[in-house]
Amino acid sequence: MIADSDRGIAQMLSDPDLVGDTLLFALCLRHVLDRVSDDDGLRVRVKTLDGLLLEVGEQATGDNPGKAFYWARRAVERDLPRYDPESTQGLMRCCAEMVRKGGQCSKPAVTVWIDREPATGESVWIGYCRRHLTSEVEALRDERQRLWNEHGKPVPPPNRGGVLTRYFTCDWDALWQRVCPVREPLDGAKEATPPKPALRVVRGE
Ligand SMILES: [Zn+2]
Repeated sequence: MIADSDRGIAQMLSDPDLVGDTLLFALCLRHVLDRVSDDDGLRVRVKTLDGLLLEVGEQATGDNPGKAFYWARRAVERDLPRYDPESTQGLMRCCAEMVRKGGQCSKPAVTVWIDREPATGESVWIGYCRRHLTSEVEALRDERQRLWNEHGKPVPPPNRGGVLTRYFTCDWDALWQRVCPVREPLDGAKEATPPKPALRVVRGE
């Protein structure tokens, strides 16, 4: 594991994609890696991926080894490059178009599912209320699902995760495999969101 020397703490803090536990993980990992060359004990402790995760987890949480290791695994797992449905808008509300009134029905949904574009796999959560969940709607849902299967279940490029790879160089496939053996990370990473504007002090007259 190597920290990218050109991309420091300031960049991490101004990266809108690097937040929460993953940001804390990145800051602590950077801190550990910066000290490794001067600290023989640390160098031995972080020789393996598990050792490194444990060290970073302990730095970040101050918890016992079991909890610290679990925390670090979860922080890396949350950054797995993946494609998630873009919208959660339809998750709880009916998305049926109201023909006369215009707009969406928006009554509480009785059932929700992930609707995918058959050709690209781009997806959104959609839901329908009891009244609008007709047999036509169900038939269309099943037909789109069938077409997506027929197209070979395409998945769009990742729209989440992979942010840590901007700052650290390592065998990411091995690390992701270690923290999350059941999910296959997608190739590539989410496109970077432009950095937050730097804060400036404006002096009044
Ligand atoms: Zn409805």
